[in-house]
Amino acid sequence: MRRTSFQFEGDFAAVLQEEYKQRARDPRYEYRHRVEYAAMGWANRIGHAEFPPGELNKILVDKHGVVPSKDAVNHVRRTKEWGLIESESNRRCLVLPEYRFQKGIGDVTCDDHGIRPAKRFRP
Ligand SMILES: [Zn+2]
Repeated sequence: MRRTSFQFEGDFAAVLQEEYKQRARDPRYEYRHRVEYAAMGWANRIGHAEFPPGELNKILVDKHGVVPSKDAVNHVRRTKEWGLIESESNRRCLVLPEYRFQKGIGDVTCDDHGIRPAKRFRP
């Protein structure tokens, strides 16, 4: 997967990621949107939002404080069905499409998807 370099121009606007982290945790929103908000809130420079094991479940708890892990899997699947996140997304990493998300700073790696900067050959 090759991403173009950051191009903050045209119809792009900036958002405050902290706000989307809060929305992801807000049970007033529908789950598909909360999953998308989590992706928006935690995405790095290449649009990958990585979560430690079980963390997305904690983010998506309902007003009673629970979301079984299989439910989180289903919420991610339904969010993919709506095209809000990329098909390679899973509970450990939500991926936003480049045509909808760009960021100028941050990591360009993803452990879950095995994305690492190319190593330079040093003779
Ligand atoms: Zn990833």
